Amino acid sequence: MTAIVTGASRGIGRAIALRLALDGIPVVINFLSQSQAAQAVVESILNAGGRACAIQADTGDPAQVQQLFEQSEQRLGPVGILVNNAGILRRGSVDNYDHAAMAEMIRTNLEGVIHCTRAAIPSMRHHHDGRIVNLSSIAAHGTAVPGTTWYAATKAAVESLTRRFALELGPDGIRVNAVAPGFILTDMVDAANREQVIQTMSAKAVLGRVGHPEDIAEAVAFLVSDDSRFITGQILTVDGGRTDLLSH
Ligand code: NAP
Repeated sequence: MTAIVTGASRGIGRAIALRLALDGIPVVINFLSQSQAAQAVVESILNAGGRACAIQADTGDPAQVQQLFEQSEQRLGPVGILVNNAGILRRGSVDNYDHAAMAEMIRTNLEGVIHCTRAAIPSMRHHHDGRIVNLSSIAAHGTAVPGTTWYAATKAAVESLTRRFALELGPDGIRVNAVAPGFILTDMVDAANREQVIQTMSAKAVLGRVGHPEDIAEAVAFLVSDDSRFITGQILTVDGGRTDLLSH
């Protein structure tokens, strides 16, 4: 069965796409704007003997999402795996609320998950088999990283949807889980004081380091595989053991 990984041109999504291809899964590399980067991911998979294609679509737009699923099926076959990875971070706190930034996050982080899941359901129901993994964040669990207040709220909503979708779709053979990453080195990480941020975040994990996209990709590969066939409605935290959460 084919997998769609949203936001797979870079970062965690890219690593997930490459990892799923290693398991022999045909992968659709969805992207928003970075077509060259997306095509480079496709080339890597093709060069390794896998099957992949890149498809541009804004996951916040239901019409574009519908086209994404139709084109994916035409090019690589029925979609049985969906990784809702596309996400954005706009900073803010209780004293600093930007309505437009919040609307943008709700559109991508929350509504994108809704549109993609709804588009995936018909074919998954038809085959009585579907595996959906949503990307949450430990921000949703209460990490004290300044500026992530509103982002955390969108990710908490993703975790709520994960459980509700699992309840509604389980009878159709569709499993829905989420991965909640800790601090992972990607473009989402502020470039300005990168080294200092890495030091601070390494000290906050009991394993003494920050995460890499591949750390998340392994967890997602497990959750879309048959090895996790009796797991649904779960949030798997992959954060190296964050002291600010473990000590609570
Ligand atoms: P990233 O490096 O900023 O990459 C974001 C990806 O999402 C890009 O491929 C981008 O496409 C795509 N994208 C953004 N808006 C989109 C839209 N409307 N439609 C389709 N694609 C869209 O992000 P990341 O750090 O890998 O994060 C991936 C996921 O993990 C996100 O959901 C994020 O919230 C979550 N997460 C990240 C961390 C972390 O520390 N990095 C921690 C916890 C959770 P283009 O390249 O075309 O722009």
